[in-house]
Amino acid sequence: MAAVIIDGKAVSESIREKLKVRVSALGEKGIVPCLAVILVGDDPASLSYVTAKERALSLAGMESRDYRLPKDTTEAALLSLIDELNNHERVHGILVQLPLPKHIDQQKIICAVVPTKDVDGFHPVSVGSMVLGRSGFLPCTPMGVITLLREYRIAVSGSHTVIVGRSNIVGKPLANLLIRQDANATVTICHTSTKDLSHHTLEADILIAAAGKPSLIRPEMVKEGAAVIDVGVNRVGDPSAKNGYRLCGDVDPAVSQKAGYITPVPGGVGPMTIAMLLQNVVEAAENRYNG
Ligand code: NAD
Repeated sequence: MAAVIIDGKAVSESIREKLKVRVSALGEKGIVPCLAVILVGDDPASLSYVTAKERALSLAGMESRDYRLPKDTTEAALLSLIDELNNHERVHGILVQLPLPKHIDQQKIICAVVPTKDVDGFHPVSVGSMVLGRSGFLPCTPMGVITLLREYRIAVSGSHTVIVGRSNIVGKPLANLLIRQDANATVTICHTSTKDLSHHTLEADILIAAAGKPSLIRPEMVKEGAAVIDVGVNRVGDPSAKNGYRLCGDVDPAVSQKAGYITPVPGGVGPMTIAMLLQNVVEAAENRYNG
């Protein structure tokens, strides 16, 4: 039987509608939630991500301040801009689109954003708070995945959840959130040195692919009825497409004939990442108002 398609677009729209109420309550107090969006260089994928984020902010009645910097921007100049934004009264969140050009130390930049404005949840203080279960901003893509699982009432507690990918922005934080006592999954993390990937993926009640490898997960690697969450966003050449490429995930589309639930790409995790970002910006503005 074909899998239930998890509609991330619809879930994200309903979250964004609910956020409008909070945005309007802030508006009555004279506050417009504002995110500073910094893009260094002209990578087309990064540009399309920041454009989508800025559009979503505007549709939700929030403000974005856009900083498009040339690719030869120095690390010192970027640090100085972040310092200015850290101290800016009207800026509630700061997003530095990754990856940064090679001459800039990415970790140094992440550490420069003050944790109260770290709406991406990448700062070591935010990561530490997440691991310890303390308050702080949670990273957007992992929270988007968890929200989808909750919305579709997929049983996370007691499940064996297998994550393919161990990056700082997806795999590692997702594993941490899933083992917390409000999720209670048993988690296996796979990566490039994992021997016999299929052995692990076949055990998964919930399988989360975040490797950045088109069609890495094939039907024979998936347990019948599993919930499959495809975080991957890959550009593959397609001469029939207007811009010469199309987007696909890490999961072979044929998996939908075996899985119980599956997220599409696009339209699955991607829109949820943006909705969670907006949620964090609103929270940052509320936190500021409430002191
Ligand atoms: P990354 O390159 O930092 O990490 C990829 C991870 O996958 C690594 O830990 C690596 O060990 C693992 N991996 C790669 N190939 C593997 C293989 N053959 N077998 C087992 N493990 C393997 O990537 P990332 O930043 O975590 O992103 C992963 C994917 O998710 C990318 O396609 C990215 O575009 C996408 N992404 C999507 C969203 C979204 O909002 N939908 C957000 C962030 C990232």
